[in-house]
Amino acid sequence: MTTMANHLPTAELQALDAAHHLHPFTNGHELAQKGARVIKSAKGVWLKDSDGNEIIDGMAGLWCVNIGYGRDELADVAARQMRELPYYNTFFQTTHAPALMLARKLAELAPGDLNHVFFSTGGSDANDTNIRLVRTYWAEKGQPERNVIISRWNAYHGSTIGGTSLGGMKGMHGQGGLPIPGIEFIDQPNWWVEGGDTAPEEFGLERARQLEAKINEIGPDKVAAFIGEPVQGAGGVIVPPETYWPEIQRICDQYGIVLITDEVICGFGRTGNWFGSQTFGIRPDIMTMAKGLSSGYQPIGASVVSDEIAQVLSGTDFNHGYTYSGHPVAAAVALENLRILEEENIVGHVQNVAAPYLKQKWEGLLDHPLVGEAKIAGMMASVALTPDKAARAPFASDPGVVGQICRDRCFANNVIMRHVGDRMIISPPLVITPDEIDILIDRARLSLDECLAQLE
Ligand code: PLP
Repeated sequence: MTTMANHLPTAELQALDAAHHLHPFTNGHELAQKGARVIKSAKGVWLKDSDGNEIIDGMAGLWCVNIGYGRDELADVAARQMRELPYYNTFFQTTHAPALMLARKLAELAPGDLNHVFFSTGGSDANDTNIRLVRTYWAEKGQPERNVIISRWNAYHGSTIGGTSLGGMKGMHGQGGLPIPGIEFIDQPNWWVEGGDTAPEEFGLERARQLEAKINEIGPDKVAAFIGEPVQGAGGVIVPPETYWPEIQRICDQYGIVLITDEVICGFGRTGNWFGSQTFGIRPDIMTMAKGLSSGYQPIGASVVSDEIAQVLSGTDFNHGYTYSGHPVAAAVALENLRILEEENIVGHVQNVAAPYLKQKWEGLLDHPLVGEAKIAGMMASVALTPDKAARAPFASDPGVVGQICRDRCFANNVIMRHVGDRMIISPPLVITPDEIDILIDRARLSLDECLAQLE
């Protein structure tokens, strides 16, 4: 069996990897120099690598392992489902119990009248689905010219053609001639970098009102939807000022445009409620889900839409779908994951235990000479590194150079943290205990100290 390669020495695994494996979001030169870190196994919030290091996973994989690693229940459900029905599709008036039960469960968990689920294999293709959903919705309502979707610079909505186009990452747009036509952008609510002398609450309003200006520039009869992550994740855990989302909601309501919240990271307990939309008081018409939906144990995503949108779509053939939409094994595993989240009251653990403790410890990092801003929303958090806190100044080096040094120190200190430019971010498994949070923060602080020493 291929996983038996796990026993091979690190150097041999790295050589095989270098010979045949192209990595996502990885610099080829750096990979060739350093070799890939080989992860062998995981339990709870802990990873073990091929050199025997025990690493605390401050990122829950890629923001996804909400219930932690090593839950046998999910493996058992997967094996059972594979024996009973390993695959069947949901095209052409066909269904099966795992897909329909998961759809029912998501309709129960999602707020408002978000009662209808279109399955995908992850967040990117769910957002591709959303582009086609909203454009088809408006066409069916007799307004096909309403096809522009407004997003934000520095948003992340995935890596497919549609997901990259919806995202506002200029470095991604540059590869492959994106975005596709009909996607427009407004600025992000990132006060630390872009707020200047404006107070955060005023800045939040200003940034939200860019949406209104953009709608009027394009023409309100041409705008189909606005999409946003409640908290920008991959953009650097940018927690918006409190004034931001209520104003976005007002504008979407006033102009009657579809509001899509991308809950791929924020969903399933991450911000202290089931969905980030609840934390920020947003009433979306569509939610994108993935990651925490299965805690990453299986690839699965979903677009969950309102009664109204489902009703309009039911009048047409929606010529769209993936071979693995509602895959029975992925759906069964996601259902088991949701059962664990619910029965073990993991969202309650976040609200009452983990998030308040993490907030206290995380904000304690503000006394570090390198840390200018500490932001946190439930179990996702960021610190802005700066040479001058009062001025909110960037480093003289290119953005990301200091962040990379800090991230390398984290790696060396056996804590996984990511850097986005010169912002350090975390998003640990939701089941993390206060003792484990202490370890995470101690290692983060040590890494910041070592980073500072390297700069001096
Ligand atoms: N949307 C958001 C907000 C994300 O953070 C991500 C992934 O990080 C995606 C979409 C893409 O999801 P996937 O990688 O499952 O395609």
